[in-house]
Amino acid sequence: MSTKTPITVAKGDGIGPEIMDATLRIMEAAGAQLEIEEIQIGEQVYLSGNAAGIAPEAWDSLRRTKVFLKAPITTPQGGGYKSLNVTTRKMLSLYANIRPCIAYAPYVDTKYPNMDLVIIRENEEDTYAGIEHQQTDEVVQCLKLISRPGCEKIVRYAFEYAKQFGRKKVTCFSKDNIMKQTDGMFHQVFDEIAKEYPEIENEHWIIDIGSAKMSDTPEAFDVIVTLNLYGDIISDIAAQIAGSVGLAGSANIGPNCAMFEAIHGSAPRRAGQNMANPSGLLLGAVQMLVHIGQTDAAENVHNAWLKTLEDGVHTYDIYKEGLSTEKVGTREFADAVIARVGQKPTKFKAISYATAKEPMNLKPVVRKSLGKKEIVGVDVFFHHKGTTAELVAALTPANTDGLSFKVITNRGTEVWPGGNVETFCTDHYVVRYIGNSPLNHKDIVGLLDRVSNTGLDFIKIENLCSFDGKDAFSLGRGK
Ligand code: NAD
Repeated sequence: MSTKTPITVAKGDGIGPEIMDATLRIMEAAGAQLEIEEIQIGEQVYLSGNAAGIAPEAWDSLRRTKVFLKAPITTPQGGGYKSLNVTTRKMLSLYANIRPCIAYAPYVDTKYPNMDLVIIRENEEDTYAGIEHQQTDEVVQCLKLISRPGCEKIVRYAFEYAKQFGRKKVTCFSKDNIMKQTDGMFHQVFDEIAKEYPEIENEHWIIDIGSAKMSDTPEAFDVIVTLNLYGDIISDIAAQIAGSVGLAGSANIGPNCAMFEAIHGSAPRRAGQNMANPSGLLLGAVQMLVHIGQTDAAENVHNAWLKTLEDGVHTYDIYKEGLSTEKVGTREFADAVIARVGQKPTKFKAISYATAKEPMNLKPVVRKSLGKKEIVGVDVFFHHKGTTAELVAALTPANTDGLSFKVITNRGTEVWPGGNVETFCTDHYVVRYIGNSPLNHKDIVGLLDRVSNTGLDFIKIENLCSFDGKDAFSLGRGK
């Protein structure tokens, strides 16, 4: 007796319904046992006045099935519409985004025929928390929040993924030479967790030179794990240089739910013409079948698809005179894959998901205290249109013996007591106060009271903390 796995399906907009129909037909022919619940998302839902693009009832289906196969949607032009992808990732805590970027040379044109890498992108944190403020006339800020549990979850996922799929190396990309606290923590957690996987090689690259290397020699990498924003950018580059964004699928994994999709959009200009390539969504669906334990069906789909590709049966986007044998539409491509179910590729290496049968060992995060926390100072942010000298003069009366300012910076560059005449100053200053002894909240409130008596416009404060005597904040540049 076969038991079917319930999944939630959204056919989306533009080319979405066509590529979803093709994907569902192929999976069925390959023996996938699925019980499909369909929900409405996308353009029509947005235009009906729902700013999130997803009806409240749809969440009930997602909570029930915990597995979401999603076709691309069209986000209507104009402001006020929230990104459905970002909403879904956050609502369902889908912390890991997995994008295999693989070349299919010589059947799909690419400069990098040996490229075969997987990008694992942190999906919940970083600047994507969307915490932004206009602070002064001239300066806006976006807060980059990185948590230790967030780093641990994604880094462990990357090593477990490498172990499960027989990959040899995990590379961490970060910018910890500049962002020593945020990216520094990501790198540090990577080094800690890497020790638990001695059988897997590990390395770290600074994101800028690492991305340059990836764009030039992608075959030097196997699994790359990185923070949200970097991962967003490099995964599109990697998919494109592998051959086509139209061929890549993606998985978004959380502790309870998961979402699978193509990485491309709804390509409205191609909609309704039986032209679109369903491969990206199909490969997302293969990741879904592996995730729900239907590895035989996943293997059937993947191998039949590879055989179709190497037989030269191609949609318009990858069709190439001389290499392709037949130019087909979406439906005919699906028929060609279905006709090859049960066959294995002979030129590409056949896929086996045998190692994916064991579940990953995603140990729960251990919450840690960093020791005794003390406030050693406070950064006070000011909106100040005058000169640095005027700021110093106005603030000096607010100093006390126990708490006085030591450094003033403007966009991170020291302008007092040191500084250069060449430094361009905006109307946004950070004044660093250091206390003689550990400070308490009352000391800070007292400081702010004195500061407000100066008539200056303070925007916000950041406490400067030490943990077990170790300072845990950035220095003003020049210090
Ligand atoms: P797009 O990926 O939809 O299309 C770009 C071009 O790539 C198309 O014109 C087409 O030539 C080609 N293409 C894409 N997918 C293809 C396929 N499967 N087969 C053949 N050719 C394909 O990007 P866009 O034009 O920037 O965006 C269109 C809409 O999609 C926008 O509303 C955008 O917001 C949305 N979008 C949705 C998602 C998603 O739902 N995950 C992702 C990206 C963009």
